[in-house]
This record gives sequence, structure tokens and C-alpha cells, in this order.
Amino acid sequence: MAKKAAKKTKKPTKKKAVKRSAPAIALHPGIDKGFAKSGKKGFAGGKLTCNCATDPVVVEIAMQSAHNHACGCTKCWKPEGAIFSVVAVAPTNKVSVLQNGHKLKIVDENAVILRHACTGCGAHMHGPVKREGHAFQGLTFIHTELSKDKGWSPPGFAAFVSSVIESGVPPSKMPAIRKRLKQLGLEPYDALNPGLMDYMATVAAKKSGTYRES
Ligand SMILES: [Zn+2]
Ligand SMILES: [Zn+2]
Repeated sequence: MAKKAAKKTKKPTKKKAVKRSAPAIALHPGIDKGFAKSGKKGFAGGKLTCNCATDPVVVEIAMQSAHNHACGCTKCWKPEGAIFSVVAVAPTNKVSVLQNGHKLKIVDENAVILRHACTGCGAHMHGPVKREGHAFQGLTFIHTELSKDKGWSPPGFAAFVSSVIESGVPPSKMPAIRKRLKQLGLEPYDALNPGLMDYMATVAAKKSGTYRES
């Protein structure tokens, strides 16, 4: 506050200095104010509840989440006004629908991730990958922000960052967005992070017979 007051006394031509103190670009309410850098030790999962005021869909994840990240693609569910989604995975056999599963509908049957959305509020409750031979087969994509339980693994990187342009973000904002992601400790990538890209390429190499150990 004191800083701001001091700036006001400067000449009006110094407008740029005021601009610099404008709030950081909003990416997602779950990460904008910072977040815990690690999950709770021994955290064994919890429940996800959709945003319906009555008869919410409840999904249980019987395990800590993995590979949590911010995602800029146009397919992952994000809360109103968010530029990025925050999405993690859990083994599909650790995911079960406990309540009001009848409200769920698959968004796109042909997508690799079978995102099950609540027809009441639109939240994506679980998204299993069932495609035979796909690197992520057996994993389910989840949004741990839908849980009141505390201790989930925090996001560790940002994927498909350039794709936010496809959802209407002006390209001119990309440098500021990438800068903000880095500030938050989320290294921005325009596909997945190197670990997951290598993993997918390894699966592909094994399938095609080109894989070499050394
Ligand atoms: Zn709902
Ligand atoms: Zn996505």
C-alpha cells in the first residue's frame, strides 16, 4: 500500500510503473495464489464431489494422485473463467463412482480420454483411458480440486500451453502466461513434459519394434 501511494506522487507519464503492480494473470483459481509444493505424506486418496447443489456425483479415488499438472488443451474441464485446467491421473482400478453415477455422460466417445461429465453441473468426474495399447491405458484422469480432502499431489508442470490460444487467449498474452507459470514453479511445455513424452515414445517404439535398451 505504501509503495502504491509513493508511486502516485510521481509524474503521470510514469504510468507503466503502476501497470507493473497489476494483479498477475489469472490461470486457475487453484494455483493463482500459490499452492503446497508436495502432497501430504501417506495420503491415500479421497472423494471427488461435483458442483451440483443437490444429488451430486461422488467419485472415490483410493490412492494418491500422480502427474498432476496444469493443462491448456481445450478438452479438459476447467472452472468458469479459468484459462487452464488442473488435471492428474490415478490407476483406473482405484477409481469408483459412489453416488449418482446416472448423471454422468461421456463427452466424446472417440477421444482417448473418456471424460465422464456431470450432466447437471458440467464437471468432469473421471476420464479413463481404455484404448487398447495406448500408453495411458489403465489410467484415469481426475480433477482433485473437486475434493474437500487435503493432501493431493500438487501440479508439477504445465502441458499444452500454446493450446490456450485455441480457447480464445490472444497470442500476445503468451509470454506473460509462460512467465507466470514459471513463477508458480510450473515449467511450461507445449505438449506433455519430457518424462511423459519419453514414456509415450518408448511405448510406441516397443510397439513398432524399434526400441533399444542401449
Ligand atoms: Zn454435478
Ligand atoms: Zn487437457
